[in-house]
Amino acid sequence: MKTLVFATNNEHKLKEVQSLLGDNWKIVGLKQIGCSEDIPETKPTIEGNAIQKAQYIYEHYGYECFADDTGLEIDALNAEPGVYSARYAGADRDAEANMNKVLHKMTHVKNRNARFKTVMALRMKSGLKTFTGICEGQITERKTGDYGFGYDPIFQPMGQHLTFAEMPLAEKNAISHRSLAIRELIKHLNDI
Ligand code: IMP
Repeated sequence: MKTLVFATNNEHKLKEVQSLLGDNWKIVGLKQIGCSEDIPETKPTIEGNAIQKAQYIYEHYGYECFADDTGLEIDALNAEPGVYSARYAGADRDAEANMNKVLHKMTHVKNRNARFKTVMALRMKSGLKTFTGICEGQITERKTGDYGFGYDPIFQPMGQHLTFAEMPLAEKNAISHRSLAIRELIKHLNDI
């Protein structure tokens, strides 16, 4: 079995990827390689940040590795919050405050088109590859639903009449940006 680091401390993400990969690869998180420092995320794009994180672990810890970065891009806000999605309303990563800021900026705005974008960057000895997952949708007028996290209560995927926060996790996972990017990554890993 080959080992690969996923540059995250999120147990949910680790389990999700491991369950999709089966027995060919063993996925380990940052805690398991003794990494407790803040990995720099200073690039202006989602792709840049994913690459920066994967590259950092490869260079400083010597493991083949992949890293993810996700952002919400809203057309009427010039693709904001984008790379600032987690901290849009301030340093404390407050999801309610972030959503309130979006809804406030979108008052009376007609074009509510938006997308979640996840980039997974894979750094192997042989080089670097990226995998992108995009979920198109609309910003709703108000928050609805209790499932999920982040901006889920104000994001309605295209062709659905529920927000992500009104969908059970399995339903969200069937169409989400993150699942799409992970599936692309896994297809690649199962081929090498
Ligand atoms: P991360 O790169 O996965 O840490 O995501 C950055 C930020 O984007 C999170 O803190 C959330 O605010 C937002 N975000 C990422 N994925 C989702 C999602 O699936 N639903 C809602 N918000 C998300």
